[in-house]
Amino acid sequence: MKISALTIFPEYFAPLELSLIGKARRGGLVDFEIHDLRDFASGVHKSVDDTPYGGGAGMVMRADIWGEAIDHLASKESANLIDLVILTPSGKRFTQRDAEALSKSENILFACGRYEGIDARVEEHYRKDQRFRVHALSLGDFVLNGGEVAALAMIESITRLIPGVIGNPDSLLEESHVSEGFLEYPVYTKPPVWREIEVPDVLLSGNHAAIAKWRSDKSSESRD
Ligand code: SAM
Repeated sequence: MKISALTIFPEYFAPLELSLIGKARRGGLVDFEIHDLRDFASGVHKSVDDTPYGGGAGMVMRADIWGEAIDHLASKESANLIDLVILTPSGKRFTQRDAEALSKSENILFACGRYEGIDARVEEHYRKDQRFRVHALSLGDFVLNGGEVAALAMIESITRLIPGVIGNPDSLLEESHVSEGFLEYPVYTKPPVWREIEVPDVLLSGNHAAIAKWRSDKSSESRD
């Protein structure tokens, strides 16, 4: 899988070198390319934004610069279809189902907005372009300063589903959100008593049926 990101802050993606994702990259399971949107801007200041039509606060990222950047990156790709993820708090809320679907993609490009966001014509244009499958996605119902943190969170949840990235694939089977509404049961390890809090007796009983029932009951309990 190839994952690219377009951003005005490429440095935000340094954590992709760490932990399991870094290992997956070094092992050839996933390839990352982070591009600076300003490389596609002209002028001394390499400005990528302008004032909003209709007035209002803040600045909007220019469609012509995004278009140039996305077209350039797409022209270098061999994949027939690129999943273009446009990050926006007004998009569909990202879920484990999206992570699963995107983990099967050959090529994903994350478009990280800043300021008041990306000119709406970028999404409109690429939705009509056969080379792209466009996803306008939000990390949640809150506003970040930019799309980079949202992209990193999505990249982590997508790449850990690629076969070979997680050492023990069984650990993916019983996780929270593996099916709609499923939350994993509470987990414990040694010592058996910590600050006077004991591990539930059933987990020390060796009774596998009772343990399975306890875990299933706990999974369906509300955690609010
Ligand atoms: N004016 C926009 C609004 O009210 O919907 C918010 C723009 S936000 C300050 C700048 C950029 O951060 C967005 O274009 C988007 O790329 C990113 N962003 C902010 N919150 C996000 C979220 N919850 N999910 C995904 N991306 C987000």
